[in-house]
Amino acid sequence: MKRPILIHPDPRLKKACAPVPDLSDELRVLADDMLETMYDAPGIGLAAPQVGVLDRLIVLDCAKNDQGEEARPLVMFNPRVLAGSDERNVYEEGCLSIPDQYAEVERPKVVDVEWLDRDGKLRTETFDGLWATCVQHEIDHLDGKLFIDYLKPLKRQMITRKMQKLKRERARA
Ligand SMILES: [Zn+2]
Repeated sequence: MKRPILIHPDPRLKKACAPVPDLSDELRVLADDMLETMYDAPGIGLAAPQVGVLDRLIVLDCAKNDQGEEARPLVMFNPRVLAGSDERNVYEEGCLSIPDQYAEVERPKVVDVEWLDRDGKLRTETFDGLWATCVQHEIDHLDGKLFIDYLKPLKRQMITRKMQKLKRERARA
């Protein structure tokens, strides 16, 4: 089932989320709903606070289907960056909670990430390139941080004002 995506600014997008103590069927349903919502948007990543749930859960799939890559949906409970490379990478980032706004953000190019998968199994993997950027962007959401928080204040305020306007228009529609 698709869930509505919160649009910035929203206090729920600024909160630090709580670790998931135990996996449950309810949480697996939430993860499946988030994947469905992400693919439908379409997007390559989604964090639980973006659907109003303040749990440490993200989903992502950065496979390039237009280049023939097979879908690779990842569900990560309590994801954690263990280490990041000194080498940095710049990507033009966007966010489903900040529609149609994009900006360059610099992050470590390669990161080691640990998480609990859908079956509660502890996993670690090294991510590079777009996958690394995406997983860091999504984990940031769990700490109440948005990609626009990396931008200069003026640019951030400009985007926030556009989003306030968008929300007003949507509320009237
Ligand atoms: Zn985002």
